Amino acid sequence: ITKGHEAPKPVSVTLEGVGKRYPSVQGVVSALEQIDLQILEGEFVCIVGPSGCGKSTLLNLIAGLERPDEGAVKIKGHPITGPGSDRVVIFQEGALFPWLTVRQNVEFGLKINGVEPQVRRALAMDYLKMVHLTRFADAQVHELSGGMKQRVAIARALAMDPDILLMDEPFAALDAQTRDLLHVELQEIWTATSKTILFITHNVREAVCLGSRVLVMTYRPGRIKDTFHINHHRPRHPEDPGLIETSAMILNTLKAVVDKAVKAELGDA
Ligand code: ADP
Ligand code: MG
Repeated sequence: ITKGHEAPKPVSVTLEGVGKRYPSVQGVVSALEQIDLQILEGEFVCIVGPSGCGKSTLLNLIAGLERPDEGAVKIKGHPITGPGSDRVVIFQEGALFPWLTVRQNVEFGLKINGVEPQVRRALAMDYLKMVHLTRFADAQVHELSGGMKQRVAIARALAMDPDILLMDEPFAALDAQTRDLLHVELQEIWTATSKTILFITHNVREAVCLGSRVLVMTYRPGRIKDTFHINHHRPRHPEDPGLIETSAMILNTLKAVVDKAVKAELGDA
């Protein structure tokens, strides 16, 4: 029996006083304002908020695809200067190469990095196994369902062995049954690999099912309004009674934010 103090986990991602603005026809839009956030190594953090609240902007800053106008974005204490091999982004859809087979897609990054054919092939098959697609290794992308395509995208990301997976609404275009299945699988992958995961969604049930921590963002300016620690045992299923209660609580917090966002969109805010 081990008791007492566990060593605190090291910090992976740090955002300090981060602000990001975009020009628009209505003037400058403050996409993010005063974001302070720390994500620990191996943590599974979900961010929820209405469309346009700055979720993708936040993810893109960590990916190194955007630069902050204010504040600092750091990985393990070092300011981010651009994309890096320690981070991989998984988008909603369309990220696979349609002219390559499933296995070739998973191998792609390894090939770029000069990994030998036999080694990268074996690695690709390992990761295809993890996402239950071994049988489809030689299939063409167009033969796959939406859920299978996202599994390939996950396998390809894992094959690069990044520390951090940045997932921007990766399951938003999938049907509910497929999404539920992928929720279970992603939890298994997280448990097996201990990656740091930042998962963006506008779906509270999804966030609560997946995240160890759920952050709720506000709309214009995009800020972090609330943080919820989700301690339910895993693997979780969105229908778990305890999760439904937690979802209801977070939805309550989000409701005011969404109302404001809808009003702003209709032009009377
Ligand atoms: P979300 O992912 O939560 O839907 P985004 O981060 O995509 O939100 O966008 C936040 C706000 O910033 C929105 O108002 C959006 O219109 C604006 N925005 C995002 N990217 C750009 C860009 N490249 N140019 C101009 N405005 C942008
Ligand atoms: Mg987005």
